[in-house]
Amino acid sequence: MAENGTTENGQPLKKMPPLPHPIKNLEVKYTKIFINNEWHESMSGKKFATYNPATEEKICDVEEGGKADIDKAVRVATTAAFQRGSPWRQMDASGRGKLIQKLADLLERDRVTIATLETMDTGKPFLQAFFIDMEGCIRTLRYYAGWADKIQGKTIPVDDSVLCFTKHEPMGVCGSIIPWNFPLMMLVWKIAPALCCGNTVVLKPAEQTPLTALYIGALIKEAGFPPGVVNIIPGYGPTAGAAIARHMDIDKVAFTGSTEVGKLIKEASSKSNLKRVTLELGGKNPFIVFADADMDLAVELAHQGAFFNQGQCCTAASRIFVEESIYDEFVKRSVDIAKKRVIGDPFDFKTEHGPQIDQKQFNKIMELIESGKKEGAKLECGGSALKDRGLFIHPTVMSEVTDNMRIAKEEIFGPVQLIMKFKNQEEVIRRANNTEYGLTAAVFTKSLDRALALSSALQSGTVWVNCYNALHAQAPFGGFKMSGHGRELGEYALAEYTEVKTVTINISPKKH
Ligand code: ADP
Repeated sequence: MAENGTTENGQPLKKMPPLPHPIKNLEVKYTKIFINNEWHESMSGKKFATYNPATEEKICDVEEGGKADIDKAVRVATTAAFQRGSPWRQMDASGRGKLIQKLADLLERDRVTIATLETMDTGKPFLQAFFIDMEGCIRTLRYYAGWADKIQGKTIPVDDSVLCFTKHEPMGVCGSIIPWNFPLMMLVWKIAPALCCGNTVVLKPAEQTPLTALYIGALIKEAGFPPGVVNIIPGYGPTAGAAIARHMDIDKVAFTGSTEVGKLIKEASSKSNLKRVTLELGGKNPFIVFADADMDLAVELAHQGAFFNQGQCCTAASRIFVEESIYDEFVKRSVDIAKKRVIGDPFDFKTEHGPQIDQKQFNKIMELIESGKKEGAKLECGGSALKDRGLFIHPTVMSEVTDNMRIAKEEIFGPVQLIMKFKNQEEVIRRANNTEYGLTAAVFTKSLDRALALSSALQSGTVWVNCYNALHAQAPFGGFKMSGHGRELGEYALAEYTEVKTVTINISPKKH
């Protein structure tokens, strides 16, 4: 899996594969709450609307889950699905792998439909949804399908009188709270490891983007997962989301979203049942370009890093540090390509850049751009909305940015590329680390010594060298500092979805 315009290794994509066609006037089939492999109306009778951010038109109403619906889902996820002797608990471990593989096959089969829905609900370019988001989901499912029957404990050497071993058991009911920027991919990052380890899931998609999650509900049933193993409850954060975080019978919660809400999730865990918590939160990610770097590559990937998914990425390259001697050239080239970025209808194949998700995010981004201008940053291009359409913001480049400006400290989550100047290696390491976040960092240089020195010195969960957004199902992803807690993807994620049980058996004949 790799992100927009890049191959697996984070290198620019040279040739596009044949283009799929989105479905015109796609009818939305699934708008209800998915519990126990059945579709339910909300207990409160409430519904909420979901909108297409590109047109700001309502797509449809969706059942609004709240605490009572979460309770209902948790009841089936704990009892019918997870109790001893249930079909899910009795299943051979490789059977779980087969079900996850089958789910991946169904995503492949319905790839165009799902990508169309994702574009309708998020505004992201269709080709991105199809080639990048869907590809990432399918690969992640297949990767974890392979793990299902390979999650092993250890035999621990003690002495001859005991046999001591560990078992890696499922935790139980895993709550998942999903953001709106990568609705499907974040769902898969959570359910794939949870299911391969044998857990059950109660998942809440973001209120802005419930549609692909509900579609996956239908595929879960079709794939043959036993009832109650995966439950999907659309709803709002402070109601349905908070009910997950506080629930006494949810054993673990995995959250991706803002640092502010991440703190609430941890607090709710400590005030309820100390459920396990993994958090994937914000970032203010340094992207460091030394004078010896491949300039074309660095300019292109800084552009993709800043603007991919309309800048709505926790991995966004949101602080670009460029060595003094190449600074002016780098800014000039960055402005040239930002001006050429094609903005418009996400279903148009030429479009590289869609709308922001909603008015709240739009307003926040515009306010931060204004604050940057007031604090002395130079607006090189963009900085304004498209005149005839609501939520589109022109790709914006700002230079002469300094570390103490709000734009250099706060996560913007929008299409704003900030370019800062540095003089030497020690200075840039210090400045890159001078943030409360620690999600990703990137270094562009031809010097191996420098690449190694920086990959060791930078305080972040991921360091990319001469590549960007190079995410792989096999490699762990997560944050240092206030960017999060725990890891998703790779073998490391298995530890976040299992409890280790130590079994010690007395085998000394004398002690019987
Ligand atoms: P953003 O500010 O970008 O919308 P959030 O962190 O608010 O990001 O949202 C990410 C997810 O967290 C969404 O599914 C949202 O509904 C959920 N959420 C928001 N507030 C809460 C809360 N108080 N408790 C639990 N989940 C929440």
